[in-house]
Amino acid sequence: MQLSRFPAIEECIEAFRRLPGVGPKSAQRIVFHLLGKDPEAAGKIAASCEALHEKVGLCGTCSMLVEGEAGGSDCSVCGARDPGVICVVEEPADVFAVERAGGVKGRYHVLMGVISPLDGVEPEDLTVAKLIERVKAGDVKEVILALNPNMAGEGTSLYLAQVLKPLGVRVTQLAHGLPMGSHLEYADEMTLTRSLEGRREM
Ligand code: ZN
Repeated sequence: MQLSRFPAIEECIEAFRRLPGVGPKSAQRIVFHLLGKDPEAAGKIAASCEALHEKVGLCGTCSMLVEGEAGGSDCSVCGARDPGVICVVEEPADVFAVERAGGVKGRYHVLMGVISPLDGVEPEDLTVAKLIERVKAGDVKEVILALNPNMAGEGTSLYLAQVLKPLGVRVTQLAHGLPMGSHLEYADEMTLTRSLEGRREM
């Protein structure tokens, strides 16, 4: 019996395979599980996935996720915290990681990726211009670069330091407590807290 004779099953397996961390075997297990005892489970998963883009938007200022508000409106952090410090991260998930580690006494800026010329990602593809705008608007005294400790993260940090420092703002970077090649999202809170506290001038 060939799986290719079941196009609906194959298509679903392919869809799950595109998710991060899901290999072909896991994708197959998930799909067979969904076909199994609980027919409602598949419907619930599909509905909650579909609702994601309807209900969750991005903050018009920092690009952090906002839920239950009109698109483009500011998030709760941008509306409330000290505008003097901006902590720059790659993805919305990193904001949650930094918050778990005690957070920053300031606001955030989500880049939506890192500069990676090999993958065709240039500063224009990220929220870099918006960050420069925020710094130029005044009030900002320090920009903390909290990007992942890998080649692309380092390169992006250097680029941002180059464009931001001439604007008269202090630019700092996380201390090297995080192992090279690791990911902020999975860093333990203690390491991330120390790395934030020990941030150094760029
Ligand atoms: Zn915001």
